[in-house]
Amino acid sequence: MHVCVLGAGIIGLTTAYELTQRGHRVTVIDRATPASGASGGNGAQLSYAYVQPLADPGIWAQLPKLLLSPSSALKIRPQWDPRQWAWVWQFLQACSAQQSQTTTSQLLALAAHSRLVFDAMRERENMHCDFSESGKLVLFRSEASFAAARQQMALQKQLGGATQMAVSAPEACAIEPALVHPQKTFTGAIYTESECAADCKQVCDALAQILSAQGAALLVGQAFKNWVTSGDKLTAVSLDKGGEVAADAFVLCTGHAAPAMAAAVGVRLPVYPLKGYSITVATDGTGVAPKVSITDSARKIVFARLGQRLRAAGMVELVGHDDRVQDRQIQTLQQATQALFPDCSRYTDIHPWAGMRPATPTGLPVIGRQANGPHNLYINAGQGALGFTLASGSAVQLANMLS
Ligand SMILES: Cc1cc2nc3c(=O)[nH]c(=O)nc-3n(C[C@H](O)[C@H](O)[C@H](O)COP(=O)(O)OP(=O)(O)OC[C@H]3O[C@@H](n4cnc5c(N)ncnc54)[C@H](O)[C@@H]3O)c2cc1C
Repeated sequence: MHVCVLGAGIIGLTTAYELTQRGHRVTVIDRATPASGASGGNGAQLSYAYVQPLADPGIWAQLPKLLLSPSSALKIRPQWDPRQWAWVWQFLQACSAQQSQTTTSQLLALAAHSRLVFDAMRERENMHCDFSESGKLVLFRSEASFAAARQQMALQKQLGGATQMAVSAPEACAIEPALVHPQKTFTGAIYTESECAADCKQVCDALAQILSAQGAALLVGQAFKNWVTSGDKLTAVSLDKGGEVAADAFVLCTGHAAPAMAAAVGVRLPVYPLKGYSITVATDGTGVAPKVSITDSARKIVFARLGQRLRAAGMVELVGHDDRVQDRQIQTLQQATQALFPDCSRYTDIHPWAGMRPATPTGLPVIGRQANGPHNLYINAGQGALGFTLASGSAVQLANMLS
């Protein structure tokens, strides 16, 4: 079968890889280069055990502070876009204990499968992507947030998640000595030894090369323009620079851009962009750089070591599709990184970045065919804040459905 995959982010490329493995002929189309969207500079965490959805009942208590505090990690700029309001409404409805538990259980299962598939692919393809079995410490500043995290940890244990430990601040500093400075600024932490980190862009670049070597066609710098249909079937896509690509089946993996493209053939996708930022700095300072991945839960910032670099990523903004890098947010990230790890870098060469998490209200991705849609249109989108973590498992699910 000839399958056309739209989007060369981590979701599109892992999907194309799994389809190629199953003997399909694959064409990947992207308006830019591989990993030019959310997959290019994300937080680098392979967060297989720590999958707490954003839609959590705890959000109600935090909402006033999140919306009103100038230092809040959450920002909403209301748009003249009914999709934004519908998403916020559905998100608030999803902030219940029952939905959060259902989501956690499904994400844990998908993440566990993803880990197996990603590890096998990395080894088979001898992929260089600054991968490390880093472990992860999630830091909590208040007793209340630490208590809530211990509850979530107990739930994840019940649901068969990996082993996690609640540790005191001095214990966390013993696990990651680079944390010695901020000992007094947090109360405790949850430690998950089995978590990993890797550079998602390097994985995408490697996959693009592997796919080309295996005979897949990669059409980059060519944007999707429209669908070509015949009855209830898609026959081709037309491209902005002219020409059409015909195929037997189509997989939409265009992240936050997917809803507008799906809507053109009557499919409603509950995906909305949650903007975030990252900085990457060289670990060229006089002090120690962390090896363990760190999450500062209060500021919603994650830190990951990538070879000789440190990546810090965070913030959640509902600001439509505006993906410009804002200096203020980059300064906030730099200040937060310097506060936790003052000497790990000279902080002279900072790579700023912004990207859009393709998020669903519940946090569960959309994988497969949709009711009302053409029968040969498949969706793989909406992995939100966990797209790198969930990519390989989502790709296998999609490729199995299609095959
Ligand atoms: C700040 C931040 C931190 C994050 N941290 C983590 C983390 O630590 N761990 C984790 O697991 N996940 C993390 N994520 C989430 C993860 O990055 C995303 O879920 C994932 O990258 C989504 O991949 P994707 O392939 O669906 O989308 P994208 O990477 O955005 O790819 C979509 C592709 O579609 C292409 N496209 C769009 N429109 C068209 C068109 N009309 N025609 C052709 N091509 C088109 C784009 O050019 C793009 O290449 C983070 C995200 C952000 C923003």
